[in-house]
Amino acid sequence: MDLKIIDLTDTHAKFVVSGTRPDMANALRRTLMVGVPKMAIETVEFHLGPIRDEDGKECESVSPLFDEMIAHRLGLVPVPTDPDLYVFKDKCVCDGEGCPNCTIMYSLNKKGPAEVYSGDLEPLGGKELRVKDELIPIVKLGPKQALLIYASAELGTAERHIKWQGTSGTAYRYYPTVTIDVSKCDLCEECVKACPRHVLGSKDKKIVAVNLEECILCTSCVKACPRDAITTSGDDTKFIFEFETDGSLTARDTLRKALEVLEQRFDDFRENLGQLVEG
Ligand SMILES: [Zn+2]
Repeated sequence: MDLKIIDLTDTHAKFVVSGTRPDMANALRRTLMVGVPKMAIETVEFHLGPIRDEDGKECESVSPLFDEMIAHRLGLVPVPTDPDLYVFKDKCVCDGEGCPNCTIMYSLNKKGPAEVYSGDLEPLGGKELRVKDELIPIVKLGPKQALLIYASAELGTAERHIKWQGTSGTAYRYYPTVTIDVSKCDLCEECVKACPRHVLGSKDKKIVAVNLEECILCTSCVKACPRDAITTSGDDTKFIFEFETDGSLTARDTLRKALEVLEQRFDDFRENLGQLVEG
């Protein structure tokens, strides 16, 4: 299996995987979607009763939304995840008590009238633990309303809840092949004009694919050619992948982690199968 990166930023990846099969490509797609662990807020504690500020002004611990809805919204906020540092809480040396290896603690203290945003979550720790997107609206507090919250984030995967899904728009397509029969082609360039993705062009008195990876196999060129000189097909051993991340992990880390998870799963499967055969 070979991997060629076309585009890689912190939140977007596009790459070509070759020398594989559709089932393996789908396994990678599913692992990118639900198999890569990331941090997300799991427990939220709400302060109850009156809250007094420095000026002696008193607010009530209420907001226009139910506490459950606020907790749910906080759960969906992207929490920065160091993929090589954090471990699952139930497998941590702290026995699930919560420690810097498995938990990130946040506090939120806001008095109305005000709008509460994800950026109001203050991490107990370094600045690098601040949430990735600071402008996600959580709730709008009215006069004399206040929120005092302690929230803890832990590692999980989207197999348990969607809030632990770090990727979106994860998809792959077959690598396109466009074949032009030069004995039939009369260089009318109808196919060049018909292609909505500007894949074809003329070069040295020949029609060639100048931008093949943009082809979506729509067959507009095939239909436009008056001499039936073009055929298109998808290569089922080569795939163009694309996905975005919510910023919790970088696209590079997400891909690296997905490949590690996949490898581990195949190892476990092989081991279990071995035991079954021996048994
Ligand atoms: Zn721990």
